[in-house]
Amino acid sequence: MERTTVIHKTPANLRPAPHWSDFEGARRNFSWDLARDALQGLPGGGINIGFEAVDRHAGGALRDRVALRFVARNATPLELSYAELARQTNRFANVLRSLGVGQGDHLFVLAGRIPELYVAVLGALKNGTVVTPMFSAFGPEPIATRIKLGAGQVLVTTDLIYQRKVKQMRSQMPSLRHVLLVAEDGGFTFEPDTLDLATLMHEATDEFTTVSTQADDPALLHFTSGTTGTPKGAVHVHGAVVTHHATGHYALDLHPDDRYWCTADPGWVTGTSYGIIAPLLHGVTSLIDREEFDAERWYTLLEQERITVWYTAPTAIRMLMKAGADLARQHHFPALRFVASVGEPLNPEAVWWGQEALGLPIHDNWWQTETGGIMIANTPAFDIKPGSMGRPLPGVDAFIVEHLEAQDEAPRVRVIDTPDVEGELALKAGWPSMFRGYLNNEARYRKCFAGPDNAWYLTGDLARRDADGYFWFVGRADDVIKSAGHLIGPFEVESALMEHPAVAEAGVIGKPEPVVGEVVKAFISLKDGYQASESLRMDISAHARRRLGAAVAPKEIAFLPSLPRTRSGKIMRRLLKARELGLPEGDTSTLEGGA
Ligand code: ATP
Ligand code: MG
Repeated sequence: MERTTVIHKTPANLRPAPHWSDFEGARRNFSWDLARDALQGLPGGGINIGFEAVDRHAGGALRDRVALRFVARNATPLELSYAELARQTNRFANVLRSLGVGQGDHLFVLAGRIPELYVAVLGALKNGTVVTPMFSAFGPEPIATRIKLGAGQVLVTTDLIYQRKVKQMRSQMPSLRHVLLVAEDGGFTFEPDTLDLATLMHEATDEFTTVSTQADDPALLHFTSGTTGTPKGAVHVHGAVVTHHATGHYALDLHPDDRYWCTADPGWVTGTSYGIIAPLLHGVTSLIDREEFDAERWYTLLEQERITVWYTAPTAIRMLMKAGADLARQHHFPALRFVASVGEPLNPEAVWWGQEALGLPIHDNWWQTETGGIMIANTPAFDIKPGSMGRPLPGVDAFIVEHLEAQDEAPRVRVIDTPDVEGELALKAGWPSMFRGYLNNEARYRKCFAGPDNAWYLTGDLARRDADGYFWFVGRADDVIKSAGHLIGPFEVESALMEHPAVAEAGVIGKPEPVVGEVVKAFISLKDGYQASESLRMDISAHARRRLGAAVAPKEIAFLPSLPRTRSGKIMRRLLKARELGLPEGDTSTLEGGA
């Protein structure tokens, strides 16, 4: 397929018609107040994420629609309608109430993608209880650290996870008053100092009046991915639901008849904002797969579950690419109409792969744990420039700033208006899902803001904006390489390497060198069917020099079977660097495959 710089949209005959096609007009007419009006609000005033996601539909025309469809290997699918989800979340909220757990208390969930996780998150929200879902694969240490940091009073987990990872750490979590256990896979082993969730649910009634939370009341505590350092706890409020809803509309184009699949685990903010909340807000049916990544399984699910909107991540797309085109060709996806990706820069190669393997380009979008929802996106409303993360959604003001010398700790910045100049990506504060603090780290939170009245949020990412208003990711401020007076963004180098037919993924770091400051070193894992060799290294190196020029192309290339990544799928460049330089690895609590 010819690689053009723009992929044009042909919206005229799409069914259903996309929600929008006039980018400028939609931005002009948008206000967050109007966006809030699309939701119901609580009967006595106030707003609550759980109520909007579940109860609003359970009392209306969508009551019998499947809200969540759980699938697993060797198990019959399990479905929960909106009405059933309302009853179960009411029961769970009553369980919390009977235990004396109320508004502002803090609940953690530690489980695979089982129905109880979803019921607990939504039920806790309805009870005003602040929730943190954690990756079930976390080891004992990261679990205890997070519960301690968040002063968690309640933990919902399974009997097996409790025995393996929590029990021995219990004394280190003095705030933890109740542990509610779910039976995993058939049998159930009761543990002292725990409660059996099924029994409590059975005893509770399914009538519950949602606690009257206000827009600024805390709802969720999410930990960042730990890509650049120790994960930070970002506090989110119930008012965030307005962003969840608006972005589900503008960035994911969710329509009520959609069969939607978000592949992210709720342990990562994507798996909560877009794996639980946004699809329910739009009354769609969400597929939840309990299994881990498997190329053949994922293609089969997309096909057999007739997924219409798919939200995934570059790491998964790269793994599908690695598995080869033949596998993709054995499947057909006539129902699929919109594909989006988040979490890392999406290399142009991957956008094109979507077009070839799925018949649709992939819409990259950008956001962070701190932003709570999608901010910059490729959408149905405008053409894709492969490699760009798109344009700011309605209600989002994004711009590029340059840092000026600061007199004290506080950052001082100036807006760069000229197109195509690199700088830090900043957002005008005030969108509803903006985080309201880093847990126990007020100083760090304050350092994220600058400009007039401290009204600009600094994202820590470097980007540039082109003359058409598209944003291009350059790299994280921490990862940028300084070599012989050049500033080199790892993304550009990695994307060029990915164009080589043998390269499955690439992670690029700056390696200190006395003469030029840093030299570019690339770590590469190869696609299935390719073997590492000196001649392949030279071939990739020659390709990179042709594409990037000698100053930017990697001076060193190393092959690895796979690159270290976070559980949310991000390449951990800081770990590649630490290992290369023999330095301490720092916080590895989110490292995939780690304990
Ligand atoms: P930590 O803050 O702990 O280092 P993290 O920043 O990876 O971890 P997340 O909040 O999960 O934690 O990720 C947000 C970051 O992911 C963004 O700041 C950006 O660097 C990167 N990111 C997300 N989406 C994109 C995208 N579409 N293009 C480029 N980068 C992206
Ligand atoms: Mg971050």
